[in-house]
Amino acid sequence: QEDIFKKVISHAKEYGYVFQSSEIYDGLSAVYDYGQNGAELKKNIREYWWKAMVQLNENIVGIDAAIFMHPTTWKASGHVDAFNDPLIDNKDSKKRYRADVLIEDYVAKIEAKIEKEVKKAAKRFGESFDKEQFLSTNNRVLGYQEKADSILKRMGKSLENEDLADVKALIEELEIACPLSGSKNWTDVKQFNLMFGTKLGASADSAMDLYLRPETAQGIFVNFLNVQKTGRMKIPFGIAQTGKAFRNEIVARQFIFRMREFEQMEMQFFIKPGTQLEWYEAWKEKRMKWHLSLGMGEENYRFHDHEKLAHYADAAADIEFRFPFGFKELEGIHSRTDFDLSKHEEYSGKKLQYFDHEENKSYTPYVLETSIGLDRMFLAVFSNSLQEEELENGTTRTVLKIPAVLAPNKVAVLPLLKRDGLPEVAQKLVDELKWDFNVDYDEKDAVGRRYRRQDAAGTPFCVTIDHQTLEDDTVTIRHRDTMEQKRVKLSEVKEIISKEVDM
Ligand code: ATP
Repeated sequence: QEDIFKKVISHAKEYGYVFQSSEIYDGLSAVYDYGQNGAELKKNIREYWWKAMVQLNENIVGIDAAIFMHPTTWKASGHVDAFNDPLIDNKDSKKRYRADVLIEDYVAKIEAKIEKEVKKAAKRFGESFDKEQFLSTNNRVLGYQEKADSILKRMGKSLENEDLADVKALIEELEIACPLSGSKNWTDVKQFNLMFGTKLGASADSAMDLYLRPETAQGIFVNFLNVQKTGRMKIPFGIAQTGKAFRNEIVARQFIFRMREFEQMEMQFFIKPGTQLEWYEAWKEKRMKWHLSLGMGEENYRFHDHEKLAHYADAAADIEFRFPFGFKELEGIHSRTDFDLSKHEEYSGKKLQYFDHEENKSYTPYVLETSIGLDRMFLAVFSNSLQEEELENGTTRTVLKIPAVLAPNKVAVLPLLKRDGLPEVAQKLVDELKWDFNVDYDEKDAVGRRYRRQDAAGTPFCVTIDHQTLEDDTVTIRHRDTMEQKRVKLSEVKEIISKEVDM
């Protein structure tokens, strides 16, 4: 698994998808840049989302709010008080950890012990080894398992009650049971705010403390009435937005899964109080359908319903995706009640109510939110698409099976040879196709190698111009996923590709 993930990261770099930020200065941790192909893939995912959410829903409109917001926004939203992670420092190694992640690391170590026992037993029993039976009957393994389960349970409880002393005690116990860092010297657990601060204004005493927004949602809430009034929107209606968000994540690892600067695609759906559960179910289903429409395998998605709810929510679920490191949150669907609008009313002193003509009364709408990380979606698409295939002739090929609608380049045009007028015909086709899609032109190396290059870069179609083209205006069109090649008329190429790549 780790190897697959390493391959994903190096392939993303090699093919111009994702680079470490400021690489020539050795990078900046958990900050990444998108390269020439990555920027296109990211844009296409954003457009695919925008089309499904804004264009196809008559009652959803999009906005683009600023990253800087009035600082009181974050008091009203609860981010100043509650947007915290529990941290613990190791006095000897001077390393800082997120307490919950550290505990999960210990538990992973316990699970590795179980795995070791399983391997040992499998070797001993040979063919007759039954893993399930072994796991459920071996006392030592059962003991480990019980310990891991009870630790995670206790951690959940202590974090929920903000019992930070117990979190520390748990870490110390674990350190004795299965040492991780070889050190027992921990500080107390402290809460750390995840928002990045900055200043607005030049002179030190008049400057205003600002935060970079940690989510795009608040830009929607504060504009609720502006959009409702100017767009004459009737409930139920939604406001969508994509844009950058910033979080000073403590344990930022796993590539673009958890970044300090990332992009969100959020939609707040304003509804009548009391209808939230209906809409919650409807949006869960709608969002799952959107994911499945990309054809990346139903078995790679699942819902995770939250038992422990955030302070603003009365129901919440994640859509989880099978990343190379396991099932993890990709999108959140939250029933936020009237928490946000009420808080902004309270802090701003302005009414944020809706007059319902049918009911002939005013109320504060409830909100149903769908929130997905664009970068995380990028990682889901990219990691799922990267495949090594064994071919019939015994060789392997690396292919990036990005859904055609999202692929950075839709087609590569390849003259078979660099002479006899073939490049000219190829260039003419490029000039025609480029008005409709991103086209790559490649004339270097043998055509087989060029196909492999396009496979690895994720291009769904290759069109090859050869001598027969000069005679009868036909070309070979090759499909990335099946490697199937077909002879078609030059004049049909655009339509064939459009059918597969149009959103
Ligand atoms: P996590 O539990 O993974 O930290 P979260 O529950 O804090 O995520 P939300 O605040 O609900 O996430 O944000 C909505 C979405 O934004 C997430 O589902 C995820 O796709 C994305 N997201 C959140 N934090 C990050 C990050 N640091 N880097 C990239 N994407 C992120």
